Amino acid sequence: MADECLFCSIVVGAVPAKKVYEDPLVVGFLDINPRNPGHTLVIPKAHAATILDISESDLAATTKAVKRVAANLKRTLKADGISVAQNNGPVAGQVVNHVHFHVIPRFATEGPVGLEGILPAKRMDERTLNSIAEKMKSGGFSSDDVEEPSEPAPRRAAPPAERPKSGDKKVTEEDFEEIDFDEE
Ligand code: 5GP
Ligand code: ZN
Repeated sequence: MADECLFCSIVVGAVPAKKVYEDPLVVGFLDINPRNPGHTLVIPKAHAATILDISESDLAATTKAVKRVAANLKRTLKADGISVAQNNGPVAGQVVNHVHFHVIPRFATEGPVGLEGILPAKRMDERTLNSIAEKMKSGGFSSDDVEEPSEPAPRRAAPPAERPKSGDKKVTEEDFEEIDFDEE
């Protein structure tokens, strides 16, 4: 358990929460600010700050529990669909610095708001998409990325940045200055 971590405190019962799921590695409890009835947070019992810090085995156990909670929500609360959201880092909106999956029941009456609810779609031309894909593929997927974390993660994330305004903005390579786009 990490000192001063809110969700670690919930795991051990030092902070009360409405726990709805528990297995040896994972706990699920109702979000205190639910986006819909049954909005559940599913977390590993072992402290890890983000998805980059969690061990592969804890991640596997956590995502398995996400599926179980989703099935429960469809059955018990008659959810028509389920959104699963997971934020990493303050700029992605992570407020509590213990990795967690939001499992949110969705209902036909509310209208479809999928990824658009997180970020508005950006139009990108073919050249930009190709450059991004090449950059990612040449970066590879290293086994180092899935090794057990060696350094303890910081305990509290900074408050999230203000959410970008919605709009149908056209995005080109110039909008991603930190990415070194190759010339075709
Ligand atoms: P994040 O923005 O980090 O992805 O989500 C954090 C979530 O934790 C928010 O939805 C927030 O409502 C929830 N939360 C924050 N503090 C507490 C708490 O003390 N108890 C419970 N049950 N949920 C919390
Ligand atoms: Zn923690």
